[in-house]
Amino acid sequence: MLTLHTAADLKSAVHTAREAGREIVLVPTMGALHAGHLSLVELAQAGRVLGGETGPRLPFVIVSVFVNPLQFGVGEDFDRYPRTLEADAKLLEGAGADVLFAPDVDEVYPQGQAEANHKKAGKAAEILEGHARPGHFDGMLTVVARLFDLAEPNRAVFGAKDAQQLFLVRQMAAQDYPGLLVQAAPTVREASGLAMSSRNRFLSTDDLRAANTLNRALRQAVLELEAGAPASEVLNAHKLQLEADAPQAKLDYLQLVSANDFEPVSENFHGSAILLIAAKIGETRLIDNLEVLI
Ligand code: AMP
Repeated sequence: MLTLHTAADLKSAVHTAREAGREIVLVPTMGALHAGHLSLVELAQAGRVLGGETGPRLPFVIVSVFVNPLQFGVGEDFDRYPRTLEADAKLLEGAGADVLFAPDVDEVYPQGQAEANHKKAGKAAEILEGHARPGHFDGMLTVVARLFDLAEPNRAVFGAKDAQQLFLVRQMAAQDYPGLLVQAAPTVREASGLAMSSRNRFLSTDDLRAANTLNRALRQAVLELEAGAPASEVLNAHKLQLEADAPQAKLDYLQLVSANDFEPVSENFHGSAILLIAAKIGETRLIDNLEVLI
C-alpha cells in the first residue's frame, strides 16, 4: 500500500493505475477506522463489471483519511475528533487497500479554506443533520468534490450509516460528476445493534447504555411502522419513552423521510422511507437510521 500526502502524488498514482487499466475507486473517511470503514474498502475491492467492450477491471482502491475542518461548526468536536493515522494505516494495509491518502489541510485547500470552491448542498440539507449542524453539508460536499476532482474516481463508496450525506453526495454526483458511480455500503453494527462510529470510543458505560436504548427504540419504531401504525403516533410515543428510559440522552430528532427525495413523509405515505435518529449523549453526538417499507 502506498501512503501519500500530496495532491500531486495522488494524481500521479491515479494516472499510473488508470494507464494500467484499473478502475479507480475512492473511499472517503475521516479516519479512526473501524469495521464499518473496512466494509466500505471490501465493497470497493469487490469491483464491478463495466459492461460491453471494457469488461471487468481490477479496482484500485484509494482510502482518504482527512478530518475536514469545513464540515465542523463552532463548538463542535473538530479538535477532539480522534486521529489515529498509524493504526488506520495498519488496518488498511491488512485490508489490502492500494493507497492511503492522508493530506493536510493546506494540500486539500491550497488557496485557503475561505477560498475553496464551496458547494451549496441545497434543500435536502436544511433538515435533520443540516438543521442541527448549519453549514455541515456544504463543508462535506466541498471536500468530497475536491477529492473527486483529485482522484477522478470511476466509483466512490459511502456508508448508509450517514443516510443524508449519502443522499446529498448522490445528488451532487448526478449533477456534477456524470459517469461516477456512488455505491452505498450497509451499516456495520456492534452485536448490540449499535452502529459502529469513530465517536463511540468517547462513550462511558452509562453513555453506552443510553446509546443502546436509542438503538432499541429505533428498531422497535421500525417494526411498528412496518406493522401499519401511524407515523406520528409511533414517533411521539418513542420520543416520550426515550425521555424516561434514557434521560442522559438529548434527543435531537427521530424523523421519517422518504428515501426518494429525503422529504419528511406525510401521514398517508406509502413506499420506501428512512427513519433517522440523532442524539447527544454527554459530549458525543450519535446518529443512526434504518430503512422502513410502509
Ligand atoms: P467517517 O469517517 O465517519 O466520515 O465515515 C467515512 C465513511 O464510512 C462514510 O461514508 C460513513 O457513512 C461510513 N461509515 C461510518 N460508520 C459506518 C458503519 N458503522 N457502517 C458502514 N459505514 C460506515
